Amino acid sequence: MTLRGHCYCRNVDYELEEPLGPVVSCHCGFCRRIHGAAFTTVALIPTSAIRLSQASVAPSKFTTPLGNVRHFCGRCASPLWNQSPADGLAVVIVSSLREDSQPAPWAHVNVESKAAWFPIEDALPRFSAWPQAEELEQLIRLHPGSWRPHQILGPAVQ
Ligand SMILES: [Zn+2]
Ligand SMILES: [Zn+2]
Repeated sequence: MTLRGHCYCRNVDYELEEPLGPVVSCHCGFCRRIHGAAFTTVALIPTSAIRLSQASVAPSKFTTPLGNVRHFCGRCASPLWNQSPADGLAVVIVSSLREDSQPAPWAHVNVESKAAWFPIEDALPRFSAWPQAEELEQLIRLHPGSWRPHQILGPAVQ
């Protein structure tokens, strides 16, 4: 199934040519500041899997000091995906996917920098920082059919 997403005003419309990888709710200061929320739920995807739809306007971009490139709608400012040019990976902002294809998060990450006013009250796994490779691998084993980011994890071992 091709997953599709769009910004609030629908000027930017995209599709994903791979299944999503790990889905996490990120509590880091960047996500909180940029998205104006206690956390942002994102899903890993290879950058090459993101395609603009034919009628789509190109998204606006902002490069962070770490070199990651935020993609967002230049008209309505909805965040869409963040791209890490160094490793060919991106994270899609889950709330930009169509309502019927937004996956539930697998875990909370960067919990050590979460907002003091926000209590995490569910039973999902929590990671103080971004999960280490072996922790990601464990999460992926619990979610068969998801995309496996070999750029982080290396080739699959049977
Ligand atoms: Zn828009
Ligand atoms: Zn974050």
